[in-house]
Amino acid sequence: MSQMQPMSAYDRSLQELVTELRQREREIELLKETVNAVGSELDLDRVFALVAERARELIQAETLLIPVLDEDLEHYTYRAGAGINAREIVGESLPLDFGVCGWVWRHKRAWWRGVLDELEPDERNRWEKEVGTLILVPMIGKGHFLGGLAGMNKIGGGDFTRQDLNLLSLFAGHVSIAIENAIAYAELAEAKQRAETYQSELRLLNKELIAINGELERLSLYDHLTRLPNRSLIQDRLQQALYAAQRDHGSVSVLLLDLDRFKDINDTVGHAAGDQLLVEVAERLSSHLRHSDTFGRLGGDEFAVVLPGANAELASHVARTLLAGLEDDFEINAMRFSVSASIGIAVYPQHGSDAGSLMQHADIAMYAAKRARYGFAVYDAAEDAIQPGRLSLVGDLRQALVNREFELYFQPKVDLRTGTLYGVEALARWSHPKRGFVPPDEFIPVLEESGLIRPFTLWAIERGLQQCAQWRAAGLEFTVAVNLSMHSLLDPQFPAQVVSLLARMAMPRPCLILEITESLFLSEHARVQGVLTQLREHGVQFSIDDFGTGHSSLSRLKRLPVSELKIDRSFVMDMERQRDDAAIVRSTVDLAHNLGLEVIAEGVETQSTLEMLREMGCDMAQGYYISRPMAVEKFLLYLENTPWKLPRLK
Ligand code: C2E
Ligand code: CA
Ligand code: CA
Repeated sequence: MSQMQPMSAYDRSLQELVTELRQREREIELLKETVNAVGSELDLDRVFALVAERARELIQAETLLIPVLDEDLEHYTYRAGAGINAREIVGESLPLDFGVCGWVWRHKRAWWRGVLDELEPDERNRWEKEVGTLILVPMIGKGHFLGGLAGMNKIGGGDFTRQDLNLLSLFAGHVSIAIENAIAYAELAEAKQRAETYQSELRLLNKELIAINGELERLSLYDHLTRLPNRSLIQDRLQQALYAAQRDHGSVSVLLLDLDRFKDINDTVGHAAGDQLLVEVAERLSSHLRHSDTFGRLGGDEFAVVLPGANAELASHVARTLLAGLEDDFEINAMRFSVSASIGIAVYPQHGSDAGSLMQHADIAMYAAKRARYGFAVYDAAEDAIQPGRLSLVGDLRQALVNREFELYFQPKVDLRTGTLYGVEALARWSHPKRGFVPPDEFIPVLEESGLIRPFTLWAIERGLQQCAQWRAAGLEFTVAVNLSMHSLLDPQFPAQVVSLLARMAMPRPCLILEITESLFLSEHARVQGVLTQLREHGVQFSIDDFGTGHSSLSRLKRLPVSELKIDRSFVMDMERQRDDAAIVRSTVDLAHNLGLEVIAEGVETQSTLEMLREMGCDMAQGYYISRPMAVEKFLLYLENTPWKLPRLK
């Protein structure tokens, strides 16, 4: 039988060793566990709570606290704690200089009881009383102090041992990295949040930008009344269709549609109803076309259709359909209108190989259809050569030039800033010996087509300058604006001819303004620019007429030596009633000013329009409200009673 033997010294120390080993094992286990847990935890408060609990257990402290350095680097706050009184202390902030924490921070090393032995006697005395049994290990991040792990009072009394110090130091090393990760993560999350907010703002801005861009595109490519493609978009579509047809050896048809006697309707019922009628006509015609066809408005009562792939037969069929579509009356403001139209057709490749000649030939066919009153006509080169109606007008115009049948009327232009009537626009009038008064809108195009416009323009400039000189002799220093047509501007002899006229008149101050239309400098920009620059050196000024009706390239406009922008009367006349028009006028004024140009509004028919323009900062105005164009004698009478200041010579 076995008997209990008293434990030998050897056995005892073996026993202690085993216990000690178990204890170490348990500590290592705990440490590993904690480091793992902390390493995968990114929520800083949870990391702290976990660390406090585990560290307390590890070194058997009654209380364990985690002081963390504040952002101001001058205080620390107990961010977490475990054990006795921990709850009361957590959240408290203290100055960093204060107490053991300050000591640890200054020395960047741990505090424990063993440190006391190194101190001078009086300092040692002071700390011994103050700290009792305390251990505080610093947590050092990448080179900087983060805070520490502080243990207070060993469970069961006694002091913390070197072993505790080592354990806690090891622990603090791992935990520092985890804390730094968590801080970095929190910062990252915040940065991410900020980036997301920023991104969503950006998305919003982008959306607005897209909307604005769309609107701008609509304004520059679509007619603002009917919302149909405008001239530039039609031309672009035609060009695209031509490229495709050239590639595939196919055809393209262009239809030009002009309403008959629309001007009469406009004059009798007014612009508003006229505009409404145009909108309804546009809608009706659209409904008879396919989506692949381009249907747009060229301006006024002129529309165009581009039919990709269509030959003359198909185009004629479409023309018949469109004309039939207009047969039912239109009703506007309880008034009934019967509308008819004339259509001209030109087909690629028979009638032209480029967009320009096709449009021109469709136009000629349209006039032929109008004259013959047979609805539509396909271009016929033979007929183009003999156009009896037009030929006789050309003959008459040639005669008119010789017989000096033309006359210039003058329409005043006033400076809204000074209230001065500073100049006039010269507008041509023709009284046909048999037919009577022929409006310039009718005879100017014929002059242009026949080439007679060149001598005509020189006559107009000469007559304008002559009149200017006469006024000057009477003590009035007016400018005179003459309208220029493309043919003159592209005529190589034109600049020299104008210079010689100017020399002949010997005006002491520049008084000639030439009005040119936007459409000109799109196609022949380089040439036009050369002519303008040359004439400008001789004191001639340039104004861009009918601004807003074409498709101006602003960047090109900026490079042209022009000094004035003339807003087309179609925007000005209705700006009181049409908010779109007012907006266009306002932005044109701003645009002109931004480009360093002066801006004049034509077509001012009422006092309130004048006031609106003045308020928008428009520099100058012209229109029926100020006066209609007048023959020179009538203009002199007008000057006697005008409310405007006159530019009298001193
Ligand atoms: P434009 O250059 O735009 O001339 C302004 C037109 O608007 C003139 O028509 C003028 O009478 C008219 N107008 C002026 N104020 C008002 C207003 O308050 N309300 C309205 N509804 N209209 C106003 P006009 O004299 O019938 O001339 C028509 C066009 O004929 C001119 O338009 C111009 O393109 C052309 N034209 C006239 N004379 C000449 C000329 O000597 N040479 C050239 N190349 N073209 C000319
Ligand atoms: Ca003009
Ligand atoms: Ca004009």
